[in-house]
Amino acid sequence: MKKIKGSCLCKNIVFEIFNECRYSVLCHCTMCQKSNAEFSNYTKVKKENLKFLKKKNLKWFFSSKKFKRGFCSNCGSSLFFQSRSSNEEIAISSGSLNSKVPVKGHIFYKDKKSNLSFPKIHKKFSQSAQGFFDKFIYKIK
Ligand SMILES: [Zn+2]
Repeated sequence: MKKIKGSCLCKNIVFEIFNECRYSVLCHCTMCQKSNAEFSNYTKVKKENLKFLKKKNLKWFFSSKKFKRGFCSNCGSSLFFQSRSSNEEIAISSGSLNSKVPVKGHIFYKDKKSNLSFPKIHKKFSQSAQGFFDKFIYKIK
C-alpha cells in the first residue's frame, strides 16, 4: 500500500498516512508563529487515510473556539491541527512526515513574519483560503 510514515521527535507518537493527502500549505498566522515556528506547514488527510501506530503522549490544546492542536507531551513536537467539532479530516505537520509533500500555497500571508520569499507559483491568501486548497490532492507514491 502507498503510504508515508510520520512521527514526533521522540517517536512516542508514530502514524502512517495512506493513498492521498492534500498538498502542503504554509500558514503564517500569529498562532502558528507561536506554536510551530515563523510559519506552519500542514498537509491534510481524511480520517480513513490516517492510522496511529503509537500515540501514548498525544495531547490536545484547544487553541481557539473552533480548532485544537495536537502535540507530543514528551518531546513537544507540534503535529496536528483539527476542528473541535468534527474528526472527518485532520491537518498534519508536513515536517513530521518521513517524505516530502510539496507546497502549493500560503494562508494568512498578511501576518507573514519570516523574511523568506516564496515562489510566484505559490498561491497566496491574505487570510483563510476558505477551502481553496482542498482540491489539490497529492497522490502518495
Ligand atoms: Zn514525542
